[in-house]
Amino acid sequence: MRYSKFFLPTLKEVPAEAEVISHKLLLRAGMIRKLASGLYSYLPLGLRSLRKVEKIIREEMDRAGAQEVLLPMVQPSELWKESGRWERYGKELLRFEDRHGRASCLGPTHEEVITDIVRKEIRSYRDLPLNLYQIQTKFRDEIRPRFGLMRSREFLMKDAYSFDVDDDALEKTYQVMYKAYCRIFERCGLDFRPVEADTGSIGGHASHEFMVMADTGEDQIACCTSCDYAANVELAPVIQSSNHQITKSPNHQITKVSTPGKRSVEEVTEFLGVSADCLVKTLIVIADDRPVAALIRGDHELNDVKLMRLLGVEGLNFADDATVRSVTGAPVGFAGPVGLSEGLKVVADQDVSILKNFVTGANEPDAHFTGVNWGRDVSMPEFADIRVITEGDPCPRCKGKIELKRGIEVGHIFKLGTKYSEVLGATFLDADGKKQLAVMGCYGIGVGRTVAAAIEQNHDENGIIFPIPIAPFEVIISLINVKDTVMSKAAEDLYNGLMAQGVEVLLDDRKERPGVKFKDADLLGIPLRIVVGKRLEEKNEVEIRSRVTGETISVIKNEAVKKVVEILQ
Ligand code: ATP
Ligand code: MG
Repeated sequence: MRYSKFFLPTLKEVPAEAEVISHKLLLRAGMIRKLASGLYSYLPLGLRSLRKVEKIIREEMDRAGAQEVLLPMVQPSELWKESGRWERYGKELLRFEDRHGRASCLGPTHEEVITDIVRKEIRSYRDLPLNLYQIQTKFRDEIRPRFGLMRSREFLMKDAYSFDVDDDALEKTYQVMYKAYCRIFERCGLDFRPVEADTGSIGGHASHEFMVMADTGEDQIACCTSCDYAANVELAPVIQSSNHQITKSPNHQITKVSTPGKRSVEEVTEFLGVSADCLVKTLIVIADDRPVAALIRGDHELNDVKLMRLLGVEGLNFADDATVRSVTGAPVGFAGPVGLSEGLKVVADQDVSILKNFVTGANEPDAHFTGVNWGRDVSMPEFADIRVITEGDPCPRCKGKIELKRGIEVGHIFKLGTKYSEVLGATFLDADGKKQLAVMGCYGIGVGRTVAAAIEQNHDENGIIFPIPIAPFEVIISLINVKDTVMSKAAEDLYNGLMAQGVEVLLDDRKERPGVKFKDADLLGIPLRIVVGKRLEEKNEVEIRSRVTGETISVIKNEAVKKVVEILQ
């Protein structure tokens, strides 16, 4: 491709709307443009990278035995009503009516559609296993689309769905897909980590997320510093701590103290001169429609995924001020377990159970209790693990130390079991002629998010540093003076020579100053740059520079093609 003819609108200024580096660089490098909130167009350069990721995914899906299909994006409401998700799926599901008044939606995912195909076409155990995938546009009306391709409303996803005869067979398929995912992200040149993930309402440890490690990632991962345990913090179980500093002290008197305007843990503990781990905060949440009080140690954080699972609910929100007042009799900041109404469900984190002489709100404005003790002052509530794991907590597997890292979820694999085959009736006849439910798995990859994650992980102050396998071009030839016929001829020769070897080359034949060309080459992140300039006249040499290392070598013009091919391999 010739740069002079290539549609590549780069930007010098950093666009104000972009917060994270990948978004900034995707815009600056002319790879994408925003149409509206969460909607992006891929320009030619961006599409080249996207296609490369797609190609790697296709090759690995095919290798894993999955077969490609392409399913409709518009889906009828009937199918979603059958699965129960028409009501359950939140506002991310974009629903609309067509001209005949038929309710439809834009597919945010395709379990319903694929299960519909399988229930109609699969008869016998001999037809299984079956693993189908597609690379297709999804639409999710995200509440806060942000970070460009990371969290958009319309995005390209590879989604695969497997159907097996039983759990053991699914386990095998799952392992094959797990390995395929590792290969995909390795081949994309990413530093990633598979982590145990939340399975939502299904339960069990049957899900892994593939996280690209990056400080700007939206997900937090609990990693063990001793073993290879890694889990999304949403999921990571906390081992109950047994030695709390105040456990052994004698019981104090319960005392009501005035705490005017002191609401937050920081304000109260500072005012009373105690540490945060001696305070029990009482969070009033609305679980589905019902208020629940969740008790957490002052220095800990509520894990809403764990609490939702414990309560068996699908939605959890903090109660608003009015609800808190009506439930506790006090404004936000003064709730506590002592004297709460009998009817209110109370759940306490397990680490709260061993506390003695703790501080809590007094359920009246501007007052707290000190010296509160279980049994004497307040009856024991239900205790469970409902907090977020923190740095320094013991590893749930080996008791080593947990550290927290950030990651970008680029892929997610999931053992669905019979969740969808049951409600939609995807059955087959086993060897004994008995009807059985197909056992399913599902496997997603955000294709655009993978490109963004690669940039998030590979860049410097000058621009993108693409890993070779997903770079839009492998080589850029910077022709220093387009008016110099000798230089131009050499650049053309190199251009043609490299293309003949199957190398993807961008020839910078623009009438621009060398400085501009070098700046753009760095911004675009093309792995190798060949400079055809002064050295050509002087020594019949060109320079090859690595974008990753910045290392530059000079080679005789006629050996440049061979050298480049060598480096790329
Ligand atoms: P998240 O927790 O980030 O919202 P998810 O758990 O909803 O993701 P899945 O339903 O597992 O995502 O979708 C599979 C993959 O699709 C994700 O791993 C991610 O790479 C990608 N993906 C999901 N939502 C978006 C989005 N809004 N924009 C871009 N990619 C997305
Ligand atoms: Mg989501």
